[in-house]
Amino acid sequence: MGKILVTGGAGYIGSHCVLALLENGYEVVIFDNLSTGHIETVEKLKKYGHVDFVKGDLQNLSDIKSLFNLYKTDAVIHFAAFSQVGESVKNPQKYYMNNVCGTLNLLSAMLEAGVKKIVFSSTAATYGEPEYIPIDEKHPQNPINPYGQTKLMIEKIMDDYDKAYGLKSVRLRYFNVAGADSQGRVGEWHEPETHLIPNILKSTFSGGQTFKMFGTDYDTKDGTCVRDYINVEDLAQAHLLALDYLNKGGETNYFNLGTNDGNTVKEVFSACEKVTGQNIPVDICPRREGDPASLVADNTKAKSVLGWKAQNSLEYSIEKAYVWEKTLQKELINA
Ligand code: UDP
Repeated sequence: MGKILVTGGAGYIGSHCVLALLENGYEVVIFDNLSTGHIETVEKLKKYGHVDFVKGDLQNLSDIKSLFNLYKTDAVIHFAAFSQVGESVKNPQKYYMNNVCGTLNLLSAMLEAGVKKIVFSSTAATYGEPEYIPIDEKHPQNPINPYGQTKLMIEKIMDDYDKAYGLKSVRLRYFNVAGADSQGRVGEWHEPETHLIPNILKSTFSGGQTFKMFGTDYDTKDGTCVRDYINVEDLAQAHLLALDYLNKGGETNYFNLGTNDGNTVKEVFSACEKVTGQNIPVDICPRREGDPASLVADNTKAKSVLGWKAQNSLEYSIEKAYVWEKTLQKELINA
């Protein structure tokens, strides 16, 4: 099937994508600086197929160039990036240097090696404050934070590199990613954790902090923010379809990945109580800065062009996230 370079393959979404690639007969080279990803994840992934690991930083051009000298790769799936909105506002330099400059280095090494296909993890954050819901790919892209800006800049760079150098890209604009591997092999492991579902689940373990609900006065059906939660395994499948699309000669393109449906923070919280069987204590807090009231994807284009479908429910994602969180608490954090 070929060898795929996965940057950021030691991270949350990257690791699920590596498993999906291995299950579909690909060999994988993971390139990761382990700044937010984990070596334990790489070790686990190695059990399930042919995985090479190169520790390196995209900000060092020589790190990524030498990888292409060592391994003949057919395409790249590029996850490696910093992704915390709040941090990007406080420290934009970190984001522009890593996400934008790092990607420029990656693209330059790809061109030198003659690798001309890339699947890129973009984000709903490139749209900014929604002008209408659900958001389709024609929605204007006006990011409201440096994180979203970096991802949009990279999308534009990729357009120019296609025109000038014939580099073909598929940009996948993720909405809110949730869940964990259905067999419990990998899952979400951020330090510190900022995301809704793992934070609710973590609060149920001894020593966990009380869950903080940010903002109950939004103009939504129950006052809390609406998000479109897409299952991480469904998301990984979309990367395989994007790769097939490029392998079949598909033109540079971009797709929203979401479920066409939104859930409020309160609905997610109730679903977590149901899955865990616990009454979870909650602190009602002021709004978190920069949170739009609603973000829901229109995924029609991914369905019609890639043949992709979101299969797994929010409840299923929470069940798998809970299984993984128990593993994390037992095996990894307390190891
Ligand atoms: N949220 C919350 N408490 C938390 C983490 C998140 O109330 O500990 C809310 C957050 O304000 C937003 C929603 O949950 O309305 C989703 O946030 P998350 O950070 O998971 O994803 P984002 O939408 O920011 O990408």
